[in-house]
Amino acid sequence: MAVPKRKTSRAQRRQRKAANRYEGVQATYCPNCSAPVEPHRVCTACGFYDGKQVLAVESK
Ligand SMILES: [Zn+2]
Repeated sequence: MAVPKRKTSRAQRRQRKAANRYEGVQATYCPNCSAPVEPHRVCTACGFYDGKQVLAVESK
């Protein structure tokens, strides 16, 4: 049976456990229309990014 040569360091063990606990990208909210958006993405609801209109979005 294969046996680890060295004890896993605390940092390595904690990095592994943190990766296993990863719960996905944190949602943020658009400052313009307060729809949930991924960080560093243009808001798909209103087309705003960094306080500016960067995408033309069809309005109903
Ligand atoms: Zn928006």
